[in-house]
Amino acid sequence: MSRPLLGRILQDRGLDDEPLRQALHLQQREPGTRLGVALVQLGAVTEEDVAEALAVQSGLAYVALESIRLDPALLWKLGQRLAERHQVVPLTEERGEVRVAMADPRNLDAIRDLEFALKARIAPVVSSPRQIRRAIRLHYGAEAMAARLLAGVPAELRSMAVAPTSLDLDPARLADHVQRGGHRSYTDLLDFLLINAIERGASDVHLEPQPTGVRVRMRIDGMLRETLLLPEWAADGLASRIKVIGQMDVTERRRPQDGQSTARYGGYEFQLRLAVMPSQHGESVVIRVLDARVIRASLSDLGWSDHALKAWYRLLAKPRGLLLAVGPTGSGKSTTLYASIHRLNQETASIVTIEDPVEYSLDGITQVQVNDKVGITFASSLKAMLRQDPNIVVIGEIRDAETAGAAAEASTTGHLVLSTLHTGTAVGAITRLSDLDVVPYMLGTAIAGVVSQRLVRKVCPDCSLPHQPTDEDFARIGIPPVTLEGDVRRPGGGCPVCQYSGYAGRVGIYELLVASNAFGELVQAGATESDLWEQAHADGLVPLIVDGLEKVRTAQTTLEELSRVVSVTDYPPAVLAKALGVAVPEAPLAASSAARAPEPAEPAKMERRRERPLVLIADDAEEILQVVELTLEDDFDVIKAADGVEALEQAAYHQPDLIVLDVMMPRKTGYEVCEALKVNEQTASVPVLMLSARGEKAHVKEGFHAGADDYLPKPFDPEELLLRARALARRSGWRDL
Ligand SMILES: [Zn+2]
Repeated sequence: MSRPLLGRILQDRGLDDEPLRQALHLQQREPGTRLGVALVQLGAVTEEDVAEALAVQSGLAYVALESIRLDPALLWKLGQRLAERHQVVPLTEERGEVRVAMADPRNLDAIRDLEFALKARIAPVVSSPRQIRRAIRLHYGAEAMAARLLAGVPAELRSMAVAPTSLDLDPARLADHVQRGGHRSYTDLLDFLLINAIERGASDVHLEPQPTGVRVRMRIDGMLRETLLLPEWAADGLASRIKVIGQMDVTERRRPQDGQSTARYGGYEFQLRLAVMPSQHGESVVIRVLDARVIRASLSDLGWSDHALKAWYRLLAKPRGLLLAVGPTGSGKSTTLYASIHRLNQETASIVTIEDPVEYSLDGITQVQVNDKVGITFASSLKAMLRQDPNIVVIGEIRDAETAGAAAEASTTGHLVLSTLHTGTAVGAITRLSDLDVVPYMLGTAIAGVVSQRLVRKVCPDCSLPHQPTDEDFARIGIPPVTLEGDVRRPGGGCPVCQYSGYAGRVGIYELLVASNAFGELVQAGATESDLWEQAHADGLVPLIVDGLEKVRTAQTTLEELSRVVSVTDYPPAVLAKALGVAVPEAPLAASSAARAPEPAEPAKMERRRERPLVLIADDAEEILQVVELTLEDDFDVIKAADGVEALEQAAYHQPDLIVLDVMMPRKTGYEVCEALKVNEQTASVPVLMLSARGEKAHVKEGFHAGADDYLPKPFDPEELLLRARALARRSGWRDL
């Protein structure tokens, strides 16, 4: 029985004679060229069309890999090298037979290799080379090592942990286990996850069982990022292993438990705080990784300006007084505290700390752990500690009136007291302490200095782009435009250095108040906050926003980041105007909710209330942008992007309810944008409507393969566009449209 010709099958499926003739001609000139390849090169058909025809020709099934969830264990049994060499992806294994998606099912060498590697009969199915390349790239990427380790877990061990071992993280040993066999299953897997977390600078690791698998997320530079997905059967074994190292009850699965452990890696010791809690699909786990290097951090590495740092050092050298680091949670206050202790400790002072909890043990320093349950509070510990008459007392945080009073008193009686306070600005700390009933006279005597701080992400030096600040950038921060002469950047498309996030590492921005005699007298006299600001400014205080803008100007961070952490409404406009050198209106420029950058943090925080759905329109043709905007603006708030890269930035920024994408755009095509949107956890669920003059079937399919939810050929009927847009927005939860 002779096989039908590929060209004939494609003709039956709508291929014209002319491109077929050209392709056959090309084949004659360059022998060895496959007909399908030639036709794709000519743009006559897509790779998917050829794959479907190949499937018909060889009597095999055609599989669209995008719609299939792959089996990681099987992928790793095969290995990346073979998958790449033969361009194959194994799909399922049943009764000694493995179904394998192949770009070329006629390749008998490949089938023999696969049989040998998988020790199974091979049942080929056909998929397009493009989809196979994509699947290989996706599945042998970050999940590589983890899945490989899991593939070695025998079935009977899949729900239990192995004997406890000390956590001595050694990548070489791990690699050796994988290459030569002899895995210690979950032990090695957890080691691998921890090495990964430490290497990436993650502060915590979340293991979240879902119906589709165990989602692994890591918090890097303050942002949670999905790192990999493990098969769902790994959940129990990992949770058990974590209970073992945290000395928890392994049999308890219904109640939350927590524990601690330590891990050694690269000559450093890392404290691990472990929490296991029941969830809908199994036990979820959070591992906090405390990096002991924090306590050896030097203030000069944390982004202080020379001027501010010298002033802070002078404050640390004082024999008495109250020094505060203030800011919201996650602003780096503890790091400032530890770095200050580190500096003081080198000068043989006697130091005691009162902490909740004690996170890092510090050599040569007495540390007290607060325990409210048994009555060991900040205030009671402080009183007890003062009897030992230390030079320096560090209080983890001032939270209540009793502690505030005791701290102020200690700092007026010959002690240097360092602490933190949850408040926004340096002058705001005075108000906060007054609210905690510290009497003005004592407060004015006690206060020596306050540093208010925030952490901003550093823009990636390798992929960031030059940026011309716009009025909208400044409006987002809430200030009038100011001149920033220097090297202003914005995040680029991502690269390996920044783990494709556009940002790498963090840096602090600071506002230091050094309490002068005049300032102390004003506090004693119970002056208003705006009088205190005037004095602080006269004494040389540089507001956070100014230090932040300096770090934007010098290519360290971006205006977008600054808008996320700084609120100018805390400052009297007159002080702000003097500090910025521009007029600031009396009513502060409130940043509109649409213009203010959202927290690019956990998805839960992304859910912002909107009056109307927000649509992002991306097209390089201004007229099309206008037509689409006019069509949709009665029902939607509209934001626009002029090319693919900008579309991705805007989508991540604003989290729209619908995205309308043109196919042909500069920098990134609509297909590429769509694929990128769909693999990003934050934008994956936003419906995408593709818009293109190229309405042929192949292009429509390409759009859907890329993940588009709907397609409309240009020129379009505006009413049809509106109806389709409404239908898609209803999927995003706008049911009234
Ligand atoms: Zn980068």
